[in-house]
Amino acid sequence: MVLNPELYKRLQVVFGEVRIAHEGEIAVSVSSSLRFTPPQLGRNTSFDLRGRSGEEVNRGEQYRVCCPFCGDSRFRLYIGYLWDRKPTALFCHNETHCHQDIDNRRELRRKVLQSTGPVSFGIVPESVIESGIVASVQVPGDVTLLGELDRWHPTVVYLQERKYDVGELSDIYHVGHCNSVIDHSHRLLRGRVFIPIERKGELIGWQGRFVGERDWKSCPVPKYYNLPSMPKRFFLYNEDFGLSGEDVIVFEGVAKVWRMGGPSVAVLGSTLSGPQARLLMDRPGRGMTAIFFDGGAEQQRDDAVARLKPALGDRVFGVEVPENFDPDKYDRDFLWGMVEKQAADRGLKLADR
Ligand SMILES: [Zn+2]
Repeated sequence: MVLNPELYKRLQVVFGEVRIAHEGEIAVSVSSSLRFTPPQLGRNTSFDLRGRSGEEVNRGEQYRVCCPFCGDSRFRLYIGYLWDRKPTALFCHNETHCHQDIDNRRELRRKVLQSTGPVSFGIVPESVIESGIVASVQVPGDVTLLGELDRWHPTVVYLQERKYDVGELSDIYHVGHCNSVIDHSHRLLRGRVFIPIERKGELIGWQGRFVGERDWKSCPVPKYYNLPSMPKRFFLYNEDFGLSGEDVIVFEGVAKVWRMGGPSVAVLGSTLSGPQARLLMDRPGRGMTAIFFDGGAEQQRDDAVARLKPALGDRVFGVEVPENFDPDKYDRDFLWGMVEKQAADRGLKLADR
């Protein structure tokens, strides 16, 4: 049992893997008038005699994580078990001494101690992916699955007008309508299409799509209202279902996954992050991986292919698209036909169709 389970748990949420040093040891401070080994301490107590007067001579139990500030991967950031009460109980053992920077200290405290939702430093600790630890989040309010709404409900009508299969959105993607929110700060989600992002059936994030079309460049209302500070680089949209087949098609956003159906996922942006690449490389299927980004994102598409190439070889390719091409504007047969043709040109065959 660690000495500060609450802090330990919070660190696990943020960093994934947390190692423990000097487990169970109590921190000992020694003032200038007391610079000898207190006799009441047991033999197991180790001392750091570099401690100056008034400082701790034994930092006690510490939690080791990969320092997010210097790109460390060797768990060199040591966080004392008293750190939540004593901000100086922090030490980056790399030459950069990241703990001395006040901004670093503030950011660390904010992310670890003050946040209630999922948090991320935007680093790539492989342990996060290996352990699969991405914090699950609460359903933000009252949400009704599309399949349970009246067929004249404005959200249903809107999605049908855009030619999405509402039954499929509800059954496979668990898309709903947000009737009300618990936390007032999410009030922009109210009345939107609720798009859950799940891992192993657990809610790990969400997006809210405005019902209707506007000129989004000038409209003050955002097209999407998403869970703030969602660590989306650590997951893919539709990963449970989309990564379960032989092949996988990788899009930028959720609506394109709905258009395509089947084994497709989205990066929730236009770049494939390291952790997302890992999810694609580690999936059980040995079929092809097609990067199907919008027209205009050719550079990002090629970067994604380059990232996967060392592991996937010729089984990964970027789908060539015309200028300004948006997969969301085409139907399923057309999109699959496009992928199928370009795969065939490379000697690849779709396994799942
Ligand atoms: Zn550091």
